[in-house]
Amino acid sequence: LVQAINVTKNFHGNEVLKGIDLDVEQREVVCLLGPSGSGKTTFLRCINQLETINGGRIWVDGELTGYEDRNGRLHRRTNKDIARQRRQIGMVFQRFNLFPHKTALENVVEAPVHVGGRSKAEANKRGLELLDRVGLSDRCDHYPAQLSGGQQQRVAIARALAMDPKLMLFDEPTSALDPELVGEVLTVMRELAQQGMTMIVVTHEMGFARDVADRVVFMDAGVVVEQGAPTDVIDNPQHERTKTFLSRIR
Ligand code: ATP
Repeated sequence: LVQAINVTKNFHGNEVLKGIDLDVEQREVVCLLGPSGSGKTTFLRCINQLETINGGRIWVDGELTGYEDRNGRLHRRTNKDIARQRRQIGMVFQRFNLFPHKTALENVVEAPVHVGGRSKAEANKRGLELLDRVGLSDRCDHYPAQLSGGQQQRVAIARALAMDPKLMLFDEPTSALDPELVGEVLTVMRELAQQGMTMIVVTHEMGFARDVADRVVFMDAGVVVEQGAPTDVIDNPQHERTKTFLSRIR
C-alpha cells in the first residue's frame, strides 16, 4: 500500500531523511521506533505530503506522490491532487488538534461534509457509528475541553476514520497523555489493527509494538537501521544503535 524508495528530505541543508526505503503491505501494522530527531515524524509527513521530499519516490496505493517531468525530476502535485491523495490517509497527531469550538460529533463530521460532499444526515449517522467504535457514543455532544486527553485522542481517531482512509498514520498518539489514559487509546488502535486497517505508528510503547505490530522498523539519524518481527528487533536487536535506544527507554 505504501512504497518508499530512497527518500531524502532536508531542511535548510540539514539532511533529516537520508534515503529511507520502506514497503507497507495492505493490512500490515508497522511501528516506527527511534530516538528523538531521527526523522520519524518527518517521514510520516512526507507520506502524507505535508512535506515535499527532496529525493526518492513514495507511492501510496500504487500512485506516485508528486509527478515526474520529462527528465524524470519529481515535482509537487497541484493542491487539488494532493488533497485527493491525502483523503486516502488518516493521520493522528501527538496533540489531538480537535476544533475547540466544535463538539466531538461535529469534529468527526467536518471533513465528510465539507470535503467529502456527504449529506449532513449521512455524515452524522456514520459519525455516531465511529464515536461508538472508539467507545464514546455518550460523549458526542461534548466539546474537547470537556473531554479527557484520552477521550480527545479517541475523537481524533474517529475523525481520521471518517473519510474511510486506506491507511492510518499515527504520530506518537499517546505521548501527550497522562499514563492512566494511554491504555484506552492503545485499545482502540489495537482493535483497528485487528479489523485489518493498514497502519504506520510512531510510538515508544514497546508493549503495543510487540503485541500489535507485524513489523518494527528502527530509525536513527535519518536511516532505517534495522527492521523485522517485533520479537526479533525488540528482544534481540542486532545493531548497537538499536540496543542503546532500547536499553534507554526500558
Ligand atoms: P521526535 O520523536 O522528537 O518527534 P522524530 O524522529 O520524529 O523525533 P523529526 O521530528 O522528524 O524526528 O525531526 C527530525 C529532524 O528534523 C530534527 O532535527 C528536527 O529539528 C528537524 N525538522 C523537522 N521539521 C523541521 C522543519 N519544518 N524545519 C526545520 N527542521 C525541521
